[in-house]
Amino acid sequence: MDCVFCKIVEGQIPSTTIFEDNDFKVILDISPANLGHSLVICKHHYENLIEMPEELVGKGFIVAKKVAKAIKEATNCDGINILQNNGVVAGQTVFHFHIHIIPRLEKDSVKIDFGDFKTESEKIIEIGEKIKNNL
Ligand code: 5GP
Ligand code: ZN
Repeated sequence: MDCVFCKIVEGQIPSTTIFEDNDFKVILDISPANLGHSLVICKHHYENLIEMPEELVGKGFIVAKKVAKAIKEATNCDGINILQNNGVVAGQTVFHFHIHIIPRLEKDSVKIDFGDFKTESEKIIEIGEKIKNNL
């Protein structure tokens, strides 16, 4: 399979690795949003969050939490975004599950914008019911 993160996991493509266990490898992003921007990459190929077994998702976010603490201490950042993109429209470019850990500084150039979507409260309640029925 032609997957860049599978190749990184297998060591066919070099990466700056900062943590590794049986299920995850944490590397520094090649095109960081800020210094220390890291990626928690699953060692098994799953395209996205929905495809992943719950147990692995849990483990991945625990790794992200540990690395976030280390990044905070190493960079002295003011905040951290945990970002996990699923699908092209959501900004996913590598279709192999990964979690971004992005250190944030008071004055940085990172833009995370929720846009100016507007809706009525009835619609919010309606979609809430629909989602509930699918859980
Ligand atoms: P996505 O947009 O899919 O959520 O994020 C993919 C991330 O992987 C991007 O931030 C991109 O810079 C990073 N990336 C893509 N290819 C490589 C690579 O070969 N090495 C490393 N270290 N990061 C990569
Ligand atoms: Zn892969």
